[in-house]
Parts: sequence; C-alpha cells; structure tokens
Amino acid sequence: MISFENVNKWYGPELQVLNDVTAEVNKGEVVVLCGPSGSGKTTLIRTINRLEPINSGKITVNGQETHAKSANVNRLRREIGFVFQQFNLFPHMSVMDNITLAPRKLKGMSRPEAEEKALKLLARVGLEEKAGAYPSQLSGGQSQRVAIARSLAMDPPIILFDEPTSALDPEMVGEVLAVIKGLAHTGITMMCVTHEMGFARDVADRVWFLDKGVLLEDAKPGEFFSNPKHPRAQRFLADLR
Ligand code: ATP
Repeated sequence: MISFENVNKWYGPELQVLNDVTAEVNKGEVVVLCGPSGSGKTTLIRTINRLEPINSGKITVNGQETHAKSANVNRLRREIGFVFQQFNLFPHMSVMDNITLAPRKLKGMSRPEAEEKALKLLARVGLEEKAGAYPSQLSGGQSQRVAIARSLAMDPPIILFDEPTSALDPEMVGEVLAVIKGLAHTGITMMCVTHEMGFARDVADRVWFLDKGVLLEDAKPGEFFSNPKHPRAQRFLADLR
C-alpha cells in the first residue's frame, strides 16, 4: 500500500535527514514511527503525501509513484488523511464547517449529507455537542479530536499522524490516543509518529525506529520492546526507563 524504496532526503548540502529508507506498509496496518528527536520521523511521514520533496528514491502509494512529475498531488492529499501536531483547524470556521468543507468542496457532497456525516464523526470522537463551537472555544484535546474527525470525513484509506499528542497538556493525551486506538484495525492504514511508547506497544502492528535518518528497526512491537536488535534502539529504550 505504501512503499519506500531507497529514499534519500537532504536539507541543504550538510544535513541528510533520510538515508536510504526502504520499507513497506501493508493495507490496514498500523505502523508507529519512533526514534530520537531530530531523527527524521516527521520528515519521513511528510514525504508520503508530498508535504516534503525527496532527493532520490521512490515512494509509491497504491502503486502510484507519489513524487513522479505526473503525480496528481490533490488526489493524493484527498486520499491520505494527515493529522498535524498543531491541529491546523480553520480558526474562523465552526467545528461543523471545518469538518464539512472538504467533502462539500472536493467530493461534491450536499450540505445536509456532509453535516449528517460530520455529526456521526463527532459522535465517534465524543464531541457531538461541539458542532457549533469555534476552535478557540476548544481544549487542545478537543481540537485534535475534531482534526481527526475532519480527516475521516474524506474516508481516506490512509491516515498519517504527526506527533498528534505532543502539543497537548498531559491530561489530554489519553483522550486523543483513545480515539486513535479506536481507528486502528478498522481497515484504515495508519502511520503515527509518536513518543508515546505505551501506545506503540498496544496498537502498532510494527514499530519503525529511525536514527539519523536511517531506518534501523522494522519489527513487531513485542520484538522491538523486549529484544531490540540495534544498540542505538537498545539505548533509546533504556533511556525511557
Ligand atoms: P522530533 O521528534 O524532535 O519532532 P523528528 O525525528 O520528527 O524530530 P524531523 O522534524 O524530521 O525530526 O527533523 C529532522 C532533522 O531535520 C532535524 O535536525 C531538523 O532540525 C531538520 N529539519 C527539519 N525540517 C527542516 C527544514 N525545513 N529545513 C532545515 N532543516 C530541517
């Protein structure tokens, strides 16, 4: 479903941020990306829907090469949900309008149909009563749950989460992780950059460990947490304890 083949990316001439990354994510799988700060996790996830360009290699999503000149970036972004660290809700629009905008404008859905769907999604993330609220009236945890509902409104086969809980106060992390856990293994393919190792252990089918842009481990969580192969991963896990 998502494949990386020898992907390299540099920021300027000095910093190689992705180093020959080759890996695959299968349909319906949940992959958690972890690694030290600055290891390239956010960059890697942003290359998938071309929020970041790559210098060489190939990324394919459902057989389509996403960095090819001929790739249809708008279509790609319609089919891949992306949840940002900072939520990125439209501040001047109500929660309902945030959720219904893309299905109405990009999928041609009627307003009543889009609103009915939005209410179902709000119920799914536990926020039915916030349809009329504005982003400034929401907590961080509520904003992120709305952002997740907004992504789901396009029925994407793939959803990418870039450190979805790292901008939240600690007491709100659990509510957002619970929503993401509820989506896992429902058929949607998920990749999530996170420092929440408990979440990785509970939800991931596979854990990817990046260090200095190199994918050092691609393992089942049981293996990764109890028996990491690479010394760098062993040190990373030891430092968390
Ligand atoms: P963190 O866990 O701290 O969020 P990360 O593993 O997600 O880190 P990235 O955000 O992908 O790491 O950054 C990888 C490296 O690339 C870092 O050294 C960062 O400073 C650098 N970097 C990121 N974005 C840019 C940019 N637009 N221009 C130049 N350097 C960048």
